[in-house]
Amino acid sequence: MVQSIDIQLTTKKKEKPPAKNLQFGVHFTDHMFMLDYHVDKGWHTPRIMPYQPITLDPAAKVFHYGQTIFEGLKAYKTEDGRVLLFRPDKNIERLNRSNERLSIPHLDGELVLAALQQLVAVDQDWIPSEPGTSLYIRPYVIATQPCLGVAPSTEYKFMIIMSPVGAYYAEGVKPVKIFVESEYVRAVRGGVGEAKTAGNYAAGLKAQEEAKEQGYSQVLWLDGVHLKYIEEVGSMNVFFKINGTVVTPALNGSILDGITRNSVLHLLRAWNIPVEERTISIDEIVEAAKNGQLEEAFGTGTAAVISPIGELNYHGEKLIIHEGQTGELSTKLYDTVTGIQNGVLADPFGWMVDT
Ligand code: PMP
Repeated sequence: MVQSIDIQLTTKKKEKPPAKNLQFGVHFTDHMFMLDYHVDKGWHTPRIMPYQPITLDPAAKVFHYGQTIFEGLKAYKTEDGRVLLFRPDKNIERLNRSNERLSIPHLDGELVLAALQQLVAVDQDWIPSEPGTSLYIRPYVIATQPCLGVAPSTEYKFMIIMSPVGAYYAEGVKPVKIFVESEYVRAVRGGVGEAKTAGNYAAGLKAQEEAKEQGYSQVLWLDGVHLKYIEEVGSMNVFFKINGTVVTPALNGSILDGITRNSVLHLLRAWNIPVEERTISIDEIVEAAKNGQLEEAFGTGTAAVISPIGELNYHGEKLIIHEGQTGELSTKLYDTVTGIQNGVLADPFGWMVDT
């Protein structure tokens, strides 16, 4: 039996931001979900409550040792008024894999799904309905035990907050310029790259800042041992189309197992497009670009869905991909995934879940 969720509705609804030009993650809905953990009680007291600040002891472990994990997924409103989540089961599985890696106690997947469905239903008038817009959902766990000893916390909070977000590409899908990072690394095998945990993102900021200074929107991460094999691009997984075959780095322990990545692989296989999950060196990509075989490159992630790459800068050498324009495959993938998400296209894989 799933624990029942107590619901306390707000008496002061907030004014909603204008649906045009919504910035990512700055506005939050009227309600949030909270669940507490204590080592003696397990996870307890699931509740939906008015969105509000929380009070933590300054010694809470999350502030000192970063014992925390998060997820990111979206809810969509279809033209006929249905409210749908995209593959929440995959986010819940990954949430628990991240928990496991960060020594955080397992969460009941059924309770998390019920929390997502009920919270989205309570705040469904916050889901924008303009094309390309959605409600971004951020589940996360923080270690709250007030104690400076380095050991797993005995207390946690699991929370879910939600934010209406605009179309990622307000003026149509646009290729990005990417800097191949060959000084900093994101993750190493045996580390926490496979987990969605705060430290990975804090550690990536420096490289991202330096790439921005040079006019690049993100970095392409190489492996942490040889600085040779391709891992991810910013906070997206990465794909290349080389001579008709689509390749993406195999999940090797330091790459995040992206849900958009998994969905793209399903679609490519269903379309009988040759696809390989394997080790890819940056030299192979440079060579393919030089001999005209690198047909397309794109990142995949919840925020942008498909983000075409128009240029890669490796050691100062600029490789232009598909003449800096969006390729046919990137467009088809973008249209198909977003079409399924918005309920405009059929859902052949059963990805969409009602709230
Ligand atoms: N890699 C990293 C490091 C990420 O943070 C994300 C975003 N969650 C992804 C890849 C893409 O994953 P998803 O498709 O599940 O959003």
